[in-house]
Amino acid sequence: MVLPTLLLSLDVGRLPEPVSGSSVTCLPLVTYLNCETDSEVQEYRFEERTWRIHWLVGQCKEGRQLPQELRLPAPLPEVRVDLRPMQPQEIPDTEANYWAACDSFLGGEGILRVLGAPLWLTVPLEFHCSCGRAMKYVASLGYELPDTPSRFLKGGQVLFVGEMAFYFFLCGACLRVRVATQST
Ligand SMILES: [Zn+2]
Repeated sequence: MVLPTLLLSLDVGRLPEPVSGSSVTCLPLVTYLNCETDSEVQEYRFEERTWRIHWLVGQCKEGRQLPQELRLPAPLPEVRVDLRPMQPQEIPDTEANYWAACDSFLGGEGILRVLGAPLWLTVPLEFHCSCGRAMKYVASLGYELPDTPSRFLKGGQVLFVGEMAFYFFLCGACLRVRVATQST
């Protein structure tokens, strides 16, 4: 049985702005990393105290796991990630900054972005929770390049499952997270 992978425990209690009207202090960002899912989006609900995940949408397709040699470790090794404010050039307020930020997001230093505006989307993503509220974009993850040293993995592996980015949207009232992906 293939289980989803915890990518990041995001300490949203320390972010400069509240996340989606929620009192949640830590947000588990989870996705199927090593398997193609049966839906374009994934969705789960989590329990704040226990972090128990209830998977709702986007199961691992039968027989669609990545080949063994391409799979990332599951679970991922625990690594502390320090967040810092974005630099002015990382905020996509001009076309030049937008493309520079995309380059950083896809194979550069800035593969993890929290809040701000999501990058590299061909169409804007808007999701509504089953409760009717708009889900708020919280974070996104790009990828490391295969020929660069990883900041997250050891043994020559990098955080790369294809030229793909993951986008996380939250309904803070229901603690439901929707995961959208985009690939080249
Ligand atoms: Zn909701």
